[in-house]
Amino acid sequence: MTVGPLRYHRLPSPPAPPVPPARGARIRVKIQEADAKTLLVAQGLPVPAWQTARTVDEARAAAARFLADGPPGGKVVIKAQVLVGGRGKAGGVKLAGSEAEAAEVAGAILGMDIKGMTVRRVLIGPAADIVKEYYLSAVLDRAERRILLMGSAEGGVEIEQVAADHPEAIIRRHADPLLGLLDYQARDLAFALGLGAQLKDAVRIAKGLVTTMRAYDADLVEINPLAIVRESGVDGAPMERLVCLDAKITLDDSALPRHPGLEELRDPDEEAPADREAREAGLTFIKLDGTIGCMVNGAGLAMTTMDLVKRAGGEPANFLDIGGGARADKVAHAMHLILADPKVDAILVNIFGGITRGDEVARGLIEARAQQTRDVPMVVRIVGTNAAEAATLLEEARFETATSLDDAAAKAVAASRGAAA
Ligand code: GDP
Ligand code: MN
Repeated sequence: MTVGPLRYHRLPSPPAPPVPPARGARIRVKIQEADAKTLLVAQGLPVPAWQTARTVDEARAAAARFLADGPPGGKVVIKAQVLVGGRGKAGGVKLAGSEAEAAEVAGAILGMDIKGMTVRRVLIGPAADIVKEYYLSAVLDRAERRILLMGSAEGGVEIEQVAADHPEAIIRRHADPLLGLLDYQARDLAFALGLGAQLKDAVRIAKGLVTTMRAYDADLVEINPLAIVRESGVDGAPMERLVCLDAKITLDDSALPRHPGLEELRDPDEEAPADREAREAGLTFIKLDGTIGCMVNGAGLAMTTMDLVKRAGGEPANFLDIGGGARADKVAHAMHLILADPKVDAILVNIFGGITRGDEVARGLIEARAQQTRDVPMVVRIVGTNAAEAATLLEEARFETATSLDDAAAKAVAASRGAAA
């Protein structure tokens, strides 16, 4: 019989715990450009008008409207809505000068594959007449515990590239932790970027990035490009304005419950399939590079298990916390996620039964194995609540079991080596 500390204070029959809100492993929720722009507009930032379209017909209608409203000879811009950077270079940002051309361009972009993401939606707006592009973002500087504004006069280029080539070209300023970005800080930033001629707009936008960040618990608000654009004023005379042409916002998903409206901006189509499956099943799953799949309950135990796999000479393929009170179907989901990774050649299941019942997990494993398409050696260690029942079930189903965690890790590593050999 397995001896675990829980036999001293085991509940007679553990009540089913409330199911925690489904949470994936991701801590940052990226939202689409169009949604990010909506949040910027709500904070009073200047963003050119836009509409989104899921079909060529919708795109054509939107283009017709913007072309009719715009100056003679004006164009529209059509942009792929996918959660990756560099859409422009990948052919996902194009201009069109007529309704027919807009329909053709939208048709080409919709359905396009950009860095593994299929374009399902495009953004259409009046094309800006760009004079100069800048970069401006607000990020969370955890070390300084402040919001950091980063700007560069080399807009349109990815900031990582600027940081690598000309680190001195990046201007950095911290916002005040209590008061936000103060006027003098914003002015200082604007002058450092060479935006003196657009001072009022630049100050408003820089401060707006910080208010946007604070309003939605974002951890990144990035405008690239922030652009000086040429427009015709009311009298028809040309004038220059500073506007946000692109927007990228990531939200901290731990703070999403504070913003009920934002959860729906999470786009399930855009999540990696494994991330989505994990989130929907209520599992915390982070893929790693190793070969040993780990299925564990509890974050602390999951980390310990990964450490022991490493100590035994193996490399974990993932962090996976099935949570407390996991039922058989959750276990089957977890198994499916682990096996979806082709690098996995052995699995270590380490369950400490408290609220989670060992026999439920064992049933889940048996069910999962019956469905699985790929046969991978598995080592199971279940202690705690209903461990004896679990052991019987696993023995009947001919699973390899282990009683100590060291033993389990060693067996899993040996199985992985055997598979690799
Ligand atoms: P990203 O490549 O995914 O970052 O997409 P962006 O929205 O930043 O667009 C990429 C580039 O396309 C920009 O840096 C601009 O040079 C260009 N671009 C985007 N919108 C417009 C527009 O309205 N007019 C013009 N002329 N160029 C645009
Ligand atoms: Mn951009």
